[in-house]
This record gives sequence, C-alpha cells and structure tokens, in this order.
Amino acid sequence: MAPGPSLDAALRVAREFDLPSDQVQRGVDEFLSQMAEGMAKNGTNLSQIPTYVTSVPNGTEKGLYLAVDLGGTNFRVCSINLRGDSTFDLTQSKVAIPRDLMVAPSYKELFKFLAKQVESFLETHHNEHFEATVRRRRLTGTTDEYRREEIFDLGFTFSFPVHQTSINRGTLIRWTKGFDIPDAVGQDVCLMLQDAINELHLPVRVAALVNDTVGTLMARSYTSPGKTETVIGAIFGTGTNGAYVEKLNRLTKLNTKGEPAADATQQMVINTEWGSFDNNLSVLPNTLYDQQLDAASVNPGIQMFEKRVSGMFLGEILRLAILGLAKDATARLLRGDGTLIPTDSPLYTPWGIDTSFLSVIEADTTSDLAETKAALFEHFKVSNASTDDAQAIQAIGHAIAKRSARLSAIALAAILIDTKRIDTDETVDIGVDGSLVEFYPKFVDYIREAMREIKGIGEKEKKVRIGIAKDGSGVGAALIALVAHKGYA
Ligand code: ADP
Repeated sequence: MAPGPSLDAALRVAREFDLPSDQVQRGVDEFLSQMAEGMAKNGTNLSQIPTYVTSVPNGTEKGLYLAVDLGGTNFRVCSINLRGDSTFDLTQSKVAIPRDLMVAPSYKELFKFLAKQVESFLETHHNEHFEATVRRRRLTGTTDEYRREEIFDLGFTFSFPVHQTSINRGTLIRWTKGFDIPDAVGQDVCLMLQDAINELHLPVRVAALVNDTVGTLMARSYTSPGKTETVIGAIFGTGTNGAYVEKLNRLTKLNTKGEPAADATQQMVINTEWGSFDNNLSVLPNTLYDQQLDAASVNPGIQMFEKRVSGMFLGEILRLAILGLAKDATARLLRGDGTLIPTDSPLYTPWGIDTSFLSVIEADTTSDLAETKAALFEHFKVSNASTDDAQAIQAIGHAIAKRSARLSAIALAAILIDTKRIDTDETVDIGVDGSLVEFYPKFVDYIREAMREIKGIGEKEKKVRIGIAKDGSGVGAALIALVAHKGYA
C-alpha cells in the first residue's frame, strides 16, 4: 500500500535528519581540530578543562568514602565501601533542595543545609563512628583535632560550570538550572562546603571536586570487566558531555607560566565540555526545527551539539516537527475532519514532549502501532490518531534519535582516534550514563554503526566496549576522593 499523505510528508521530514557517512566524517575531522584548539588555549568551543585527576582505577581500590552530589533538584549523600575486587556497597540518602535556598541572597544557608544533611547521614548510617567522634567531642566539650584515621574523605560532585584549579579547588563561574545565589559566584565550591562542615565539627574532609563525566569514567574503570582501564566517560542524559584520559604534555595551555613541560608518561583526565562542540555550526546539521529550538532556548547559539543530542532537547525537536506538519494542510498529519490536537494539548507547550516518549514509540512493534496511539492520547490528549499518523510520528522520532546517536559517535570516535587508543591491540572501554543511552532502544547500536563508517575506526569498532556505569556519580566521586587522598592526583 502506498503511504498516505501524512506518512509521505513525514518521511520527507525524517530524511532531513539523515546524517550520511560523509557528514559524520566531516564532523570527526572538525571535532579533532576543535579538540586541538581547546588544548592550546582558552575560550574555544571545546573547553578541554583539566580535572587534576591523574590516574584511573583498576578495580583493586579499597576503602570507605563519602560522596555528595549537588546537580539540580536533589542533594544526594552516600557512603561507598570499595571492596577492592571491582565491587562496592553503596548507602545513600536523597533530599529535595528547598527552593528558598536555591534562589537566595547568600550561599551560607544552602551550604549549612548541605552540611546538616551530611551530619544526619553520618548519624543514621555510621552511628558508631558518629558517637565515637562527633558525639563524644560534643559531650566532653573537647575541641581536639580529629585523627587522620577518623576523618572521612568526601568527593563533591557539583554539576555547574566551575573553573577548577586543583583536585579540590574550583570557583563557581555561574549558576544554571534555576539556582541563583549571587554571592557564591567566584567563590571556591569546596571551601564553601568545608566551612559549613567545620561549623558542625564533623570529621569530614572535602577531598575532591568532581564533574559527573569524570565520575562516570572512574566508576566504569573500577567496575569494568577484566580490569581494563576505561578511556572515556560520557553522559547522555538531560545534557551530554564527555571526559577522557589524555597525555598531560598535550595540554599545552597549562604550560604558559614557563613551567617545565610534563613528561610523556603523565596523564590527566580532561573534561571536554563537548556540549559546545561546533557552536558556530560549521559541520553540525541545522534543520528548521533545530533553528526554532535554538531561537526559543535560554542560551541561543550555545551548547549547539548538546541541543542536537541530549534528552532535554530531542522531545522538543519532535514537537516542533509534528506541529510544523500538523499546520501544513497538504501533509494532513493528525487532521481527521479538522484537527485531532485539542487546544489544551501539551503538544502546544514548549518542551511539552519528554524524550521518554521517543523511547516508547520506538519500542512499539504492534502492527497498528496501538502503543504509539495510546501514548499520543495519554500524553497529548490526541484521540483517534490514524495508523498513518502514528507511523509518521514514529518515523520522525526515530530519525531524530538516530541522528543524535550518530552525532554522539563523532565525539567518541574523534577521541579514540586523537588519543590513538583505537590503534592499540587492547580492548577500548567507554563508560556511559544517562537515561537516553540507558533507555532509548538501540541507541548504542546506532553509535556503533556510525563508528564503523569512520576512517580510522572501521572494523576496529569491534574492539570498543561501551558499558553503563551504574551509580556513577557516587562511586566515581569516592574514587576521586581516594586518588586525591593517596596524593596521586
Ligand atoms: P540527568 O542527566 O539529569 O542526571 P537522566 O540521565 O535521567 O538525568 O536524564 C534525564 C533526561 O533523559 C531527560 O531529558 C529526559 O527527557 C530523558 N529521558 C528520561 N527517560 C527517558 C527514556 N526512557 N528514554 C529516553 N530519554 C529519557
């Protein structure tokens, strides 16, 4: 049967999201050149931020560490017992951050709140230790310093832009994600937390400041099968970003103060901030829907790679494409006799489609796409969608997600080529985290397919192992606290 008008028009729109091999290749070439630029100077698309993490775990690490994660709506506190055999035990608590602390004149209240959470976590989950240290001191009025062995090292995952200057020093550049506390900008993030912890006299040392991509890399490296050291940690969740292990002497921008160059054996994990790859759009695709999304975003012209790849944006691209077709009288999408989209449908609300909807429709293999129709009704109040409508929406959603995976392959492949990791005989391990890579059907398969098309990868794609790093932020932060403590870093 020939496709009906809505499917026919949708297939044309879906083709706009095709990313053929030659465009993937151009992307890799440009990524390589923007990586090099970021290694040499500041103010480039790829920031290539030094993290001061200079070794990755091999699974034999041992010890009990604390980790906290301030990234958005929740604050998590956990303790991680690394068993030294690639396994760990994790205990955690999670609390919503009160809005009046997120937007406030002073950071003191927020950090006091965070320190209080650490205190109650210790009291609940490490009570014996709490009694022997904090409570004993409070009862006896002693103000002696804690002995080193009494102190917990803590890794602080802080997912806001930071100018990091050492493993546990970094100043806040700006708040994002709805936070606004003016006097915190320019302050040292670890010191703000340490001061609040010290006010409560807790035996806790903020040992490391952690970016979530680095945490993912470290967590995967600790748990990866066969003790293979992980090369890249990457997030495909609300946003996208990646960190990788680099030779320190290639990070030439660090070497501007006349210090001796690092020797060829020294390594450092670099946070690429690849969400901003190709902000100037020299190689990235740019459909009408990408343009509309960018124009309506809070940061037009910035994070252009992320806006084509990550969970926060894919649903919105689909929404804009559906509305475009629904308005087009000849396309006849979701039309019936008039329109099937009621005026109060979330399809009319910016950011009204969550990317989980793309996962649901991609997974629908029923012959009449009953699940897609049900989801259209449940989420968007669209009743009576035809099978043609459902196929049309499925085709566009599929194309948008596949483009995202093929773009993701550009970043991963470029790093494997640049670091020459792909040219060794060893397995190349990549740790990933985030709902998109975890839940979108075949996302990793599409990444692999694109990798095989890239010059310099091809058949060698078989050596690449991509695995989810579970509990990445907690375990990763613990591992970074550990390397900081050992003084490797
Ligand atoms: P974060 O990156 O904030 O730590 P997640 O990794 O859970 O959190 O990513 C959340 C993002 O993933 C949201 O943008 C959401 O739209 C998207 N998402 C949530 N569930 C799914 C799913 N089942 N399939 C694809 N994307 C999803």
